[in-house]
Amino acid sequence: MSFYLDYQAAKPVDVRVVSEMTMYLNQKFANPSSLHCEGDEATDALSDSRQKVADFINSPNPDSIIFTSGATESNNLAIIGAAMRNQKKGNHIIISEIEHISILNIAKYLERQGFKVSRVPVDQYGIVRLDKLARLITDKTILISISTASNEVGSLQPIGKISDIATKNNILFHTDAVASESVIPLDVQEIPFDLVTLSSNDIYGPRGVGALYLKKGVRVNPIIIGGGQERGLRSGSENVPGIVGFAKAAEIMKAEINNDAERLKILRDKVIKGILESIPKSYLNGHPELRLPYNAHFRFDYIEGESLILSLKDENVAVATGSACSSKTLEPSHTLIAMGLLHEEAHGSLVVTLGRYTQEKDIDKLIEVLPNIVKRLRLLSPLTPPDLIKKYNEVNE
Ligand code: PMP
Repeated sequence: MSFYLDYQAAKPVDVRVVSEMTMYLNQKFANPSSLHCEGDEATDALSDSRQKVADFINSPNPDSIIFTSGATESNNLAIIGAAMRNQKKGNHIIISEIEHISILNIAKYLERQGFKVSRVPVDQYGIVRLDKLARLITDKTILISISTASNEVGSLQPIGKISDIATKNNILFHTDAVASESVIPLDVQEIPFDLVTLSSNDIYGPRGVGALYLKKGVRVNPIIIGGGQERGLRSGSENVPGIVGFAKAAEIMKAEINNDAERLKILRDKVIKGILESIPKSYLNGHPELRLPYNAHFRFDYIEGESLILSLKDENVAVATGSACSSKTLEPSHTLIAMGLLHEEAHGSLVVTLGRYTQEKDIDKLIEVLPNIVKRLRLLSPLTPPDLIKKYNEVNE
């Protein structure tokens, strides 16, 4: 059995969600577009699910929820859809330097289509510089897209203030809420977002389902054309079992979010304290307080994140280095570089992310095995300074 500490990359589906979904796979399997009774049942399940996801973010209007195949598609629909819809008004979009890879690549795509994209810098903690954001706005700016929190280092973004800036300047504001949706309640009536990306798996629902919230009156162009489902904004037969699962996960999350967050914060703080106190030259990346309750992101001098992960794998501990979405490249994390870290510093990172089923024994295991792994790797590393090697060897004697 593994000590799983990689909840940011994937979460298990809650058993309560699985049992709700099963019936829609093999019994209530009809297509909501069909006119028979079974089709009506599927339509009802879809409406009920739309209402539950709307309630999850306190949306007054269930029709504001457009179901998609996940957060990547929601980000595409929000940003490309808004850009195409508003290109007569302007061609300038603002994102941050530390957005999720899906948003960074959408921005590059739009640049190739003739749009201009500005990337707001972040401070040393990975928090968006509001002063710089205000200065980037022009009369051609049509959209600001900044996530609620960094999916890598966990820093919480000042989304209320960003929303104020967008509203004051009459610019659409999109936020990718995936990183925070399992721990911070989102209320679209409190902060008047125009567009919000949600993901099912990030709240313990099935993967391959998500949603885009569109404030009433906000218009985007569809990016998937076909039979006109989801108000014409997302064609394709609806994934009813997935959507039902997503909605159940949202209902559970709404009821349990504060308890989950409080419990995770205690575990997270124990990991942070345990690691920083037992390993010399170790540091916490991201903000010490303004961070996701489930995220602990570390950096260790003189060693590489990949070798740490492989050594932890031998101990059955599952963690990540940098962002899971870009772990296939050997490039250092764009987020850490944007925060001002040197390449070699960024490479020595380890991300610990906790979730609903994390137990104290999981983090105790990490705290128990990591100091010796770091020590072993440092004793082998040509970068470790002689005084640290001497210190390690003295302890051995
Ligand atoms: N946005 C964020 C913040 C993410 O962490 C992820 C990945 N979990 C995505 C978007 C993309 O999600 P998906 O791969 O489910 O489309």
